[in-house]
Amino acid sequence: MLERSALAARLAQMQQRIAAAATAAGREADDLTLIVVTKFHPASLVRELAALGVSDVGENRHQEAQLKSAELADLPLRWHFIGQLQTKKARQAAKYAHAIHSIDRERLVESLRTAEVDTPIEAFVQVNLTNDPGRGGAHPTEIERIAERILETPTLQLRGVMAVAPLPEEEEAESAFARLHGFAERVRALDPRATSISAGMTHDYAEAIAAGATHLRIGSAITGNRPTTG
Ligand SMILES: *Cc1c(COP(=O)(O)O)cnc(C)c1O
Repeated sequence: MLERSALAARLAQMQQRIAAAATAAGREADDLTLIVVTKFHPASLVRELAALGVSDVGENRHQEAQLKSAELADLPLRWHFIGQLQTKKARQAAKYAHAIHSIDRERLVESLRTAEVDTPIEAFVQVNLTNDPGRGGAHPTEIERIAERILETPTLQLRGVMAVAPLPEEEEAESAFARLHGFAERVRALDPRATSISAGMTHDYAEAIAAGATHLRIGSAITGNRPTTG
C-alpha cells in the first residue's frame, strides 16, 4: 500500500508540474499526452499505473515490451515503443505497439509495411539531435525521405517527430528542442495531420513543453529509480 501511494503521489506531482509548464508556455495541458515510461519495471507496476488512470505507457526493449503487453492484455493500455528497434523485430513489435516513436531508417518502414495491424500504427520519425551517429535517430537530412516512405505505407500513420535531447554538457535542451520544432514543421509540410512532437523526459519536460512537445515520455520522476538488472 505504501508503494502504491508513493507511486500515486509521484504521478500526481508530475501531472501538476506538466500542467504548470503548459500554463507557463501559454499552452493547454489537455493538448499533451503523458506517456509513462515503464522500462525495467515489472508488469505489476504498469497495472498499478493503469489503476491510477494512466492510459499510455512507453517501453524501449522489444522483448520486455512483448512480455508485459501480453501479461496486461486485459487492460486498455496504449503501448508506445520508444527504443531502438531491430528491423527483424519490427513486425513482432507491431503486434502490441500502438505507436512507434523510433523510426529512424527506411528499412524499418519497409519491414513494417507487411505488419498485421487492425489500425495503422502511429509513427514518429526519430531525429538525432547530436553529432554522434551512434545515438538513435535519423540524420536531419533524412527526415523527409523517411516521412515520405511512412506516408506511402498503409500500416503506418505519420504523426510527427521524436527526439532525445543531447546531454546537458553537449547542448542546452532549449536550443536542441528549438531545432526539433523546425524539423517538425518540415514533416508537417508533407502532411498537415502530422503535428506531433515526442520530446521531454524527467529532466527536460519543461523545455520540451515550451518548444511545442505534444507527447512527453516520463520515466523515473513517476516510477522511481529503475530497478538494477542482474
Ligand atoms: C528511458 C527513456 C525515457 C524516460 O526517461 P526518464 O529520464 O526516466 O524520464 C524517455 N525516452 C526514451 C527514449 C527513453 O529511453
